[in-house]
Amino acid sequence: MTTTYHHSAAFNDLAALLTGQLFLPQAADYEQVRQLWNGKVKTQPAAIARCLTVQDVIHTVRWTRSHNLPLSVRGAGHEIFGRSLSEGVVIDLSQMKAVTVDPEKRTAQIQAGATAGDLIEAAQQYGLATATGTISSVGMTGLTLGGGYGPLNGAYGLAADNLLSAQLVTADGQLITANAEENADLLWGLRGGGGNFGVVVSLEFRLHPLTTVLSGLLLYPLDQARTVLHRLNEFIATAPDELTIRFGFLQIPDGQTVLFLSPTYCGSLEMGEQAIAPLRTFGTVLVDQMQSVSYHELIHSSDAFTPKGRHYYIQTQSLDGLQTETIEALIEQGLPLPSPFSAINLHNFHGAASRVGVSETAFALRQDHLMVELIAAWEPQDDEQQHIQWAQNLSRSLAPYAFKGGYINILDEQEQERVRLAFGSNYERLLDLKQKYDPDDVFRSTIGHLAPHSLTR
Ligand SMILES: Cc1cc2nc3c(=O)[nH]c(=O)nc-3n(C[C@H](O)[C@H](O)[C@H](O)COP(=O)(O)OP(=O)(O)OC[C@H]3O[C@@H](n4cnc5c(N)ncnc54)[C@H](O)[C@@H]3O)c2cc1C
Repeated sequence: MTTTYHHSAAFNDLAALLTGQLFLPQAADYEQVRQLWNGKVKTQPAAIARCLTVQDVIHTVRWTRSHNLPLSVRGAGHEIFGRSLSEGVVIDLSQMKAVTVDPEKRTAQIQAGATAGDLIEAAQQYGLATATGTISSVGMTGLTLGGGYGPLNGAYGLAADNLLSAQLVTADGQLITANAEENADLLWGLRGGGGNFGVVVSLEFRLHPLTTVLSGLLLYPLDQARTVLHRLNEFIATAPDELTIRFGFLQIPDGQTVLFLSPTYCGSLEMGEQAIAPLRTFGTVLVDQMQSVSYHELIHSSDAFTPKGRHYYIQTQSLDGLQTETIEALIEQGLPLPSPFSAINLHNFHGAASRVGVSETAFALRQDHLMVELIAAWEPQDDEQQHIQWAQNLSRSLAPYAFKGGYINILDEQEQERVRLAFGSNYERLLDLKQKYDPDDVFRSTIGHLAPHSLTR
């Protein structure tokens, strides 16, 4: 059911408080500002407050609460199921994206609307980088609050593991800091505990010396997929930290569906060539596009495959490696892919990411695993049902072999039980934090939503 919030004159009062612009549905550019990455999301917020300052955020939180309207927070707008667009007021941070690098301390301070691309572009000028996802346009804040799988997980952990400090506007409009010295419990929660605790307005990340990586694609024909995946499964169990491999199925421009491996090695080129050499022997490589590239180029290289505005639906499972049954499910149930834009993507979580203790951060799945993304993508005019069903059916086939939780950045509201399981033994501690920082559940339209004790007992 959708609720309509009347566009009362009271919005003029909010607009008058902001240095940024307030977009109401009747504005000519409202639709352009509203659109998320996923064109399937049609939610029409009553107002979008495009904040330019922390004070704008504070005013918007206080005003929205005093008018008892739903609130959501949006950074780069890549959330898949539309939780960054509530039907009430949206705090839009997309224009707050400044990045400041301290090359001596090897840290970067970002405003919360900065993307992975913004951060890496600034850091690379000093020969530095940090753990990001695979795509440059994804917001660093949403990525980090959910965890943050990517090509540097093996060497540097999750994006969340590199978060040192954050500033946040709480539900009662106070600006607070979370770091090792102040509100350390909150810093723990922000490392993978979702957007439950307030509006993050800035974050500080640890940086690592990194200029180039050895990365790219190795493509194999489908008739070799079983053999290659079995051998890959053995290989990744002993892969060095520097080598993180994403792999799966996609369609290439000539219409063929292929098995792809996308290894990234972040060390010397020579060692990288040695490390990836066995991958070339797993089958007959159709296309070999491995090359030395800057990390900045790497995270831009896949942007074109995931354009904004197309319709998407994604399901996720996390597997304890591959076994015959899961390889068969991926091939028998997953193929053919339901459209030329759809894909199956498996992220290899290992190395530094697996050495963090379960209770050290809110993100709880700390053993080696494969995070599977079943990405259905189609043009807006297509019937969505077949695409959605493909992802749901394949997810169901993998579920008996998967960990009982899942990656909170890709679980939708109907999967609340899986969110609880994803947090595992950290769940109760997260509920306590929610009770402490957002007892009225103002931030309920979020990835990894937690209901405070006071509203459930
Ligand atoms: C094309 C694509 C590629 C992706 N690749 C990866 C990948 O490689 N690795 C990976 O781990 N994930 C990946 N993801 C998932 C991605 O991490 C999540 O969708 C993430 O939530 C997006 O963050 P955002 O800031 O861009 O999105 P938004 O829609 O702006 O925000 C998403 C949610 O994060 C929370 N949030 C965002 N900003 C704030 C804030 N300032 N304060 C409080 N809460 C906030 C809110 O709950 C919000 O609903 C990908 C998603 C897409 C669409």
